[in-house]
Amino acid sequence: MQKDITERKLLEEQLAHQAFHDPLTDLPNRALFLDRLSHALKRSKRRGDKVAVLFMDLDNFKVTNDSLGHEVGDDLLIEVAGRLSQCLRPTDTAARLGGDEFVVLLEDIEDTNEANRVAKRIAETLRLPLYIEGHELSVTTSIGIAFGGSDEDLPGSLLRNADLAMYRAKEAGKNSQAMFESGMDVRALKRLRLEEDLRRALEREEFRVYYQPEVSLENDRIVGFEALVRWEHPERGLVPPLEFIPLAEETGLIVPLGQWVLEEACRQTREWQELYSGSADPLPIISVNLSARQFKQPDLAETIAQVLRKNGLEPRSLILEITESMMVTDVDSIIATLQELRELGVRIAIDDFGTGYSSLAYLKRLPVDYLKIDRSFVDGLGRDPTDKGLVSAALTLAHTLGLEAVAEGVETADQLAHLRELGCKLAQGYYFWKPSPSERASELLAARFPP
Ligand code: C2E
Ligand code: MG
Ligand code: MG
Repeated sequence: MQKDITERKLLEEQLAHQAFHDPLTDLPNRALFLDRLSHALKRSKRRGDKVAVLFMDLDNFKVTNDSLGHEVGDDLLIEVAGRLSQCLRPTDTAARLGGDEFVVLLEDIEDTNEANRVAKRIAETLRLPLYIEGHELSVTTSIGIAFGGSDEDLPGSLLRNADLAMYRAKEAGKNSQAMFESGMDVRALKRLRLEEDLRRALEREEFRVYYQPEVSLENDRIVGFEALVRWEHPERGLVPPLEFIPLAEETGLIVPLGQWVLEEACRQTREWQELYSGSADPLPIISVNLSARQFKQPDLAETIAQVLRKNGLEPRSLILEITESMMVTDVDSIIATLQELRELGVRIAIDDFGTGYSSLAYLKRLPVDYLKIDRSFVDGLGRDPTDKGLVSAALTLAHTLGLEAVAEGVETADQLAHLRELGCKLAQGYYFWKPSPSERASELLAARFPP
């Protein structure tokens, strides 16, 4: 009995330790670090002294990891953790937040100079050569410093400020330190932060494709899906595309990201099609959004042809969605690209139709197949007679041009009734289904194709 209790105690201690420590380096993790920081802030308020948070990121860690392998990378992180601990006083805390990000809490600090001195000492210690599996390595770090200890300082914001200052250090050239100042352009630094996060999210495969059914209003059946990307952020949860697509577009990260979405959506669609290949009903098709940047890639058609071939998907099963706003410049080259895509057999939809500025003359020349009527017009159906008129006009326009129309963002039975009355044949919206993970989309399909 005594032995049982001892063992259970040990086990409990072990579990508690695991919950608050990084398994690789055994340093405290984020949760424990924030806890210690919050206690340190309370103590410093009582004592009237200061604390400093150093946020550090190893420069070029990814290069080492990619070229020498994860095991060398892991050994390097363990070594860095050891050296970091050696640089500190017993009252300070070093922690690993994940990847190659480490933080240090310095308590009972005199002034910013002292924090700077410690940061420099850490940088110098880490730079001494390291020997791992026969490789001589040298590590440089960028360190951001935030100094705190006043009433308003919250642990989370101090950590964030140090993190932002780290981007200033990186900007200034690697292997340097920067102190957070309240006048810093926080927005610009946050952008750098998001950009870095996006890059890592791609590497760590944190993106997911969600699928929203497109429904035929003639038989109320699922015709296919629109692929909509989501970011499964380890801390922030599911991040919607509008929070990261614009920056991904600006930085060019949209190209690899969009490529990944395209591949994943085609792979998944082919899998569904194989499952129901014996069915008499038409097989599900897939719509994928293309960004302006992707659309301008010179090898776009070839890339898409390759993805289709690789996944064994018929070109007819793929619809590429582009927006009107992408088509404001250089009409001829846009038409040439669209033609190339259509020669593959892929179909094209104009997304968010009605929100851009395409003229009728322009529209007439564009080789496209679908108009997706923006949900801002569908929204007013049954409430705003103007919207009903506009939806009706868009439907007429589509039919005159020989295009199919899809109503986006249908949310109510009333809107649906109006769309039916106006002769709309395809629709999509929360009234039917929200975008959902592939497992849920598979269930919806299974219900649509009875065994
Ligand atoms: P979109 O292509 O027009 O996609 C439709 C958006 O409307 C989706 O938002 C969808 O969840 C939302 N929606 C659908 N039905 C309803 C409804 O009944 N009510 C309301 N309020 N909303 C509805 P989401 O998924 O947040 O995507 C937003 C935009 O982000 C997309 O607009 C598209 O422009 C862009 N996007 C999403 N995935 C990708 C991608 O893989 N690549 C690129 N380049 N852009 C993407
Ligand atoms: Mg779309
Ligand atoms: Mg749309």
